[in-house]
Amino acid sequence: MSDKNLRNIVIVGGGTAGWMTAAALGRFLKNSFCKVRLIESEDIPSVGVGEATIPQIQVFNRTLGIDENEFIRRTQGTFKLGIEFENWGKIGESYIHAFGDVGNDMDSVQFYHYWWKMRQKGQAPDIGAYSLNAVAAPKSKFMRSVDAGNSPLSNIVYAYQFDAGLYAEFLREFALKHDVKRTQAKVVESRLRASDGFIESVVLDDGEVIEADLFIDCSGFRGLLIEKALNTGFDDWTHWLPCDSAWAVPCERTEPLLPYTRSTAHSAGWQWRIPLQHRTGNGHVFASQYMNENQALDTLLNNLPAKALADPKLLKFTTGKRKKIWNKNCIAVGLSSGFMEPLESTSIHLIQSTIARLMSLFPNREFNQHDIDLFNSQADFEYERIRDFIILHYKATQRDDSEFWNYCRTMSVPDTLNQKISQFMENGQIHRTNMELFNDTSWLEVFHGQGFHPKGYHPLVDVVPDDELTRRLEHIKKVIDKSVDAMPSQQEFMQHSGLVSALKGNM
Ligand code: FAD
Repeated sequence: MSDKNLRNIVIVGGGTAGWMTAAALGRFLKNSFCKVRLIESEDIPSVGVGEATIPQIQVFNRTLGIDENEFIRRTQGTFKLGIEFENWGKIGESYIHAFGDVGNDMDSVQFYHYWWKMRQKGQAPDIGAYSLNAVAAPKSKFMRSVDAGNSPLSNIVYAYQFDAGLYAEFLREFALKHDVKRTQAKVVESRLRASDGFIESVVLDDGEVIEADLFIDCSGFRGLLIEKALNTGFDDWTHWLPCDSAWAVPCERTEPLLPYTRSTAHSAGWQWRIPLQHRTGNGHVFASQYMNENQALDTLLNNLPAKALADPKLLKFTTGKRKKIWNKNCIAVGLSSGFMEPLESTSIHLIQSTIARLMSLFPNREFNQHDIDLFNSQADFEYERIRDFIILHYKATQRDDSEFWNYCRTMSVPDTLNQKISQFMENGQIHRTNMELFNDTSWLEVFHGQGFHPKGYHPLVDVVPDDELTRRLEHIKKVIDKSVDAMPSQQEFMQHSGLVSALKGNM
C-alpha cells in the first residue's frame, strides 16, 4: 500500500450534499486506508428544499446498491416523467420537457427534422405527441420499463420527486453503516498550513481540532471552507439568471398523484409544484429586483393547489459558480460550489457528478495539480452548459408583459448559447458535445415549446416522400397512444408495487 494515500477525509455539512458524499465515500472506502468523518450542526439548518431530480440519480442510487422500492418508500417519493412549463413562451401556452425519446430517428437523420417539415405543412401534431412520457404525464400514468421488444414501454426514462430531508436521513443511515463517523458540532474556525495555504484543520465549538488530508465543503451557500477559508472567488451569473430569491411552502397532497413537476412562469419568476406522497412541495422563485418579497409571497399563496402545511420560508441566493470547485485540498460539493436555480432540477445531479469526478480523480497526499486542473475544467464545462440550457428558458420567450420578461427576452447571453440558438434557428440543427448533460431532445422541446422554430430542416428529409412521412409519423403516434393506454396510473402502479410509504397509506 502506498504511504502517500489519503488517511482521512472530513466533510463539513450534513445536508443533501454532505450525506450523498458521505454515503458514496463510505461505500467505496469502507475498511480501507482512509477514514471518513462528517461534521454537521443542528443549529444551522440545511436549505430543506431540493425535491425534483433528473434520471441520472438512478445511477447514483444503483452505484450505492440502494433498492429503488425502499428508497421510494423511505423518501415519500413519486416518479417523474418530465417538467411541464406553463406560460413560459407566452401566457396561456404550455409544453412538457419530457425525459426519454421523441419519435424514432430515420436513416441517420434525427426524427425532429422529419416532424418539423410535416408540422410546417400542418400535417403533424405537436412534438409532444411522439413522446411516451409527454403523453403519459398529463394522464397521470406511470410504470417502469418492461421487456416489450421495440415498444416504447421497453425504455421508460424517469426520475424521482422526493422529500429532501428524508433522503438525507436515509443516506445518513447508509453512511453510518459504512463506517462514516458523524460529529455533531459547529465548525468555528479553519486553520491553514503556513507552507502552502492548504487547510490543515477545522476547529469545533467544543474546542476539538480536527485535522484531515482532504476537506469536502458541503456547508451550503456560506462556503465555509472553499470561500471563507480559501477565498476561492465566485463567478456571478445574475445578469443571465436574475432570479435570486424563493419562497417555499408545502401544501396538502393533491389528487391525482401527478408523475411530473410543474413550473408556472409568473411576472418576475416562476412557481414550482412537486407532488410527493405525503404533501406537495411549492415554491416561487423570483427576481427581487423586479418583485418585492411580499408580492412574491402573495403570488405563491394565491396559486397554491391545496392548503398550506407550514409557514412559508424565504431563501436568498446568487446564481453562479465558485471559480474553482477543487482548490488546494478542498472540494466544494453542493450549494457551496454554486447554484443555478432549480428550474431544471440540476443541483442534486451536480452533487452526484462532482462525487463521480472525485472518485475518478481521487487524489493522494501529493495532490497532483494536473488532476485538479482537469477536475476543474470538466466541472466548468458541465456547469456552463447547464447554465446555457437554463438561460434558454428565459431568453426564448415572447412575453412582454413585465419588466422582468422584457429584460430576459432582450438580454445578451453567453456566446456558447448564442451559437446554439443561431444554428438551430437556421436549419434546426442542435450542436452539442457528448459531455453535455442535456441532449438534443431536451433542447428541441424547449425551443419548440417556447415558440422558437427554425427556418429549415435537414436536407435529407426531402429524400422521403411526404405521404411516406405522414404514414411513418402516424404509425409512431399510434404506437405511443396504444402504449400509454396500456399503462396504469401512477397511483395504481405504486399501490400494486407496494411503494406507498408506511407513513401515509391512504393512496
Ligand atoms: P445545505 O442544505 O444548506 O446544507 C448545509 C449543511 O452544512 C447543513 O447541514 C448545515 O448544518 C451545515 N453547516 C453549515 N455551516 C456549518 C458549520 N459552521 N459547522 C457545521 N455544519 C455547518 N436541487 C434539485 O436537484 N432539485 C430541486 O428541485 C431543487 N430545488 C431547490 C429550490 C431552492 C429554492 C433552492 C435554494 C435549492 C434547490 N435545490 C434543488 C438545490 C438543493 O436544495 C441543494 O443542492 C441540496 O439541498 C444540497 O444542499 P447542500 O447540502 O449543499 O446545503
